[in-house]
Amino acid sequence: MKVVALFQSIGEIAEESPEYVLCAERALELDDMLGDDHELVVIDDQDELDEHLSDMDVCISSPFYPTYLTDDRIENAPNLELSITAGVGSDHVDLDAALDTELTVAECTGSNVVSVAEHAVMQILIVMRSFLPGHEQVVDGGWDLAEAAAHAHDIEGKTVGIFGLGRIGQRVAARLYPFNVDLVYNSSSRKEDFEEKFDMEYVELDELAQRCDVITIHAPLYEETEELFDADLLSQMDDDSYIVNTARGKIVDTDALVNALEAGELAGYAGDVWYPQPAPEDHPWRGMPNQAMTIHYSGMTLDAQHRIMEDTKEILSQYLGDGEIDEEYLIVQDGNIVDPSYE
Ligand code: NAD
Repeated sequence: MKVVALFQSIGEIAEESPEYVLCAERALELDDMLGDDHELVVIDDQDELDEHLSDMDVCISSPFYPTYLTDDRIENAPNLELSITAGVGSDHVDLDAALDTELTVAECTGSNVVSVAEHAVMQILIVMRSFLPGHEQVVDGGWDLAEAAAHAHDIEGKTVGIFGLGRIGQRVAARLYPFNVDLVYNSSSRKEDFEEKFDMEYVELDELAQRCDVITIHAPLYEETEELFDADLLSQMDDDSYIVNTARGKIVDTDALVNALEAGELAGYAGDVWYPQPAPEDHPWRGMPNQAMTIHYSGMTLDAQHRIMEDTKEILSQYLGDGEIDEEYLIVQDGNIVDPSYE
């Protein structure tokens, strides 16, 4: 069996950080697990994938540094049976093509949900407390209090909206609840237990936009959510409100966001997800005002990398064993969507 895995090369850091396993140098230590019975090919450039389409059986890629498994690539990979997402979120795979060709799509469900929830809470604080203008002055030798404080807010008493109350959204709610914020949410279905536990209110999407001081996005990217945060939805938000998006870049309309920030119709934006990835040097979000974005690494803490490694190995060994992969890992199997989040 031929397994092709794409990870970014990290050079000298591989020596300094033995725990860093989500890289081309260590490739989640899959070599040890696969042994001599199978061929593992590790690439660090997604164009190289095309050389292996004709005979690869399994493709492994992370959302941080994805191979876009397009319908063309899937069509040209006759042996491909399994795509493993080394992380959470399989939107880099054309799921319609996977359904048509009965390609199994599995991911490391839950592996980095804590890591992302912590990052989202951090970025809510960073934008709402105007952290970057305060910090940048330290480095630049300045002391202009107004530049930082004129846009700094407590989050206590503010309305925080969670879009997508799944594993990450629930953890964000749990972490924000002690800040004494008013929590509201929109999700595919109501979660009454969480409403009670965190005093949360379910609202329709328009109301979420109209009422919230900050919205944090935690739904998957698929047909229904692609560019859902478009010019119309953004225009319903208050000029003093913020968005934090650690789900997927494409859930937000690229140009509509830049226009809203430039026009002062949105106070700020943070997150770590882009489209495409790696984001090109001239991606419009790099230069837009009032943003506190990071590159996509929130779900790549060393702790998360370890869990991603364990889950990827488990999925592979189940596939190589009796072929039965635990349902919790599955997004698509036998031409059907298995994960209800993508329905
Ligand atoms: P999850 O499946 O546990 O939760 C997703 C939630 O979104 C579910 O409650 C679902 O009902 C809801 N949802 C689906 N479609 C919706 C819609 N149209 N409108 C409103 N709600 C909708 O997934 P999760 O583990 O919480 O992860 C959520 C997403 O976060 C992933 O799909 C992935 O794209 C992203 N993610 C990003 C990182 C990162 O490193 N930044 C890491 C992990 C996951």
